[in-house]
Amino acid sequence: MAEAEADVAIIGAGVVGCAMARRFALEGATVAVLEAGSDILSGASKANSAILHTGFDAPPGSLELACMQAAYGEYMEIRGAMNLPVLETGAMVAAWTPGEEARLPDLLAQAHENGVTDAEIIPREAVLAREPNIAATVRAALLVPREHLIDPWSAPLAYATQAKMLGARFLFNAPLSFAERRDGVWHLDAGGATVTARSVINCAGNQGDRIETLLLGASRFGIRPRKGQFVVFDKASGALLRTILLPVPNDRTKGVVLTRTVFGNLLVGPTAEEQEDRERPDVTRPELDMLVAKAAELVPALADMPVTAVYAGLRPATEKKEYRVHAEPDLGYYCAGGIRSTGLTAALGIARHVFALWDGAAEPPADPPVPVMPNLAEHLAPRSVARPPVPAVRTRRRHSARSWAPATGTAWHWPESARSGRMPAARRNAGRAGSDAMDSDPSAGNKGGRPRHFAVGHQVRSTGTQP
Ligand SMILES: Cc1cc2nc3c(=O)[nH]c(=O)nc-3n(C[C@H](O)[C@H](O)[C@H](O)COP(=O)(O)OP(=O)(O)OC[C@H]3O[C@@H](n4cnc5c(N)ncnc54)[C@H](O)[C@@H]3O)c2cc1C
Repeated sequence: MAEAEADVAIIGAGVVGCAMARRFALEGATVAVLEAGSDILSGASKANSAILHTGFDAPPGSLELACMQAAYGEYMEIRGAMNLPVLETGAMVAAWTPGEEARLPDLLAQAHENGVTDAEIIPREAVLAREPNIAATVRAALLVPREHLIDPWSAPLAYATQAKMLGARFLFNAPLSFAERRDGVWHLDAGGATVTARSVINCAGNQGDRIETLLLGASRFGIRPRKGQFVVFDKASGALLRTILLPVPNDRTKGVVLTRTVFGNLLVGPTAEEQEDRERPDVTRPELDMLVAKAAELVPALADMPVTAVYAGLRPATEKKEYRVHAEPDLGYYCAGGIRSTGLTAALGIARHVFALWDGAAEPPADPPVPVMPNLAEHLAPRSVARPPVPAVRTRRRHSARSWAPATGTAWHWPESARSGRMPAARRNAGRAGSDAMDSDPSAGNKGGRPRHFAVGHQVRSTGTQP
């Protein structure tokens, strides 16, 4: 077999690609990540509801359920060391009609079958005692105490940062455009860069079927992008609701959710709209109006609440509901495709699953470094007059990836982004085709900054006024 620069080349740096890079790097594989966009989270992962799911309503026995539950456990294990926020809200699947109420026992049975044994049906009085601001017409709810909210930015950034600290290369503005396998090695052309790798892992989200066709000549699945629009209410609304409010789901979608965010706002969405365009999920006035009306129906006080921002994301849905995860070890090809609507939660588990399928060999590093992320959820941060109102970011001396060891001279400082409340992003070198644009210092990815309230990239239409 010929020489290759990397054991694995990962196509796409969404949350799945970032988690994949971390897992393979933690296992000792050499990793190159090729991302078409100028930053991580350039696709579906930049716009979601940010719910950390228990899997209570996932298809029993499915890979999706297994990945979500493995990932939930791993997230809870690593979040302390990485300083990743979790807002422990619980969720209620609320029934508003007799028909919906009649479906709650089936949902409860499914939750219990899925191992979510703390789920329970609670009567109207208990629902209203828990959430006094929701409409009094509620009939009952399925309470799922361990559904939580996370920060959709800092979690994948932490995964990517840890991968980078372990030596992974991230190439941005590097869309895979040509691939050829010769003598057991993939030769990949991406945005002017050429990378060789023994295996390729397709994490290309809404381009997953095209990447599979590019690599193998045909794809086992077809992407059917499904748009979800959201409305974000002003932070004053955050006090109106504690628990994530879910509708009784249908086969196509989990439905419109009303939830807090870790940043202190209230969020309503997403819609579920099929569209051809794989890149641009525009927001549209009638759907935004519908969401605002829906939110006010659930929590009447929202009728008077200003809207801070609106945004939309595109789920990488396919013709089937399940994840499209498969492997062709003889061809050095692995696919984590069709990660439709639970990928933020499941990414760590998907990465473990794909690593288990991988037929390569690697030696895990003995003492892997752990990045400590700035806490962007300002209102969750401990406050004290003696210290700045955000947790410290521990920075370490830079080492070559393979020889990394905890620095003796660990320094503590307050990053500019944390003080200003801006988003950390691996943007410092963004814009350079094929450049290795992430910095191994976890505090160093904070240069680009983004407006707050999810206003990221061209896919967001931030109105600042009620739509
Ligand atoms: C409206 C909505 C709500 C959601 N809510 C939740 C939720 O509450 N909880 C939850 O767990 N999940 C949720 N999800 C699901 C979650 O966001 C997705 O499952 C996840 O983002 C999919 O990540 P991915 O990495 O597979 O795809 P993506 O994030 O799309 O990443 C794919 C990457 O590949 C890159 N790429 C494409 N083509 C190429 C190429 N040729 N070369 C190199 N790179 C390429 C893209 O630029 C992109 O960055 C939601 C999703 C949506 C849209």
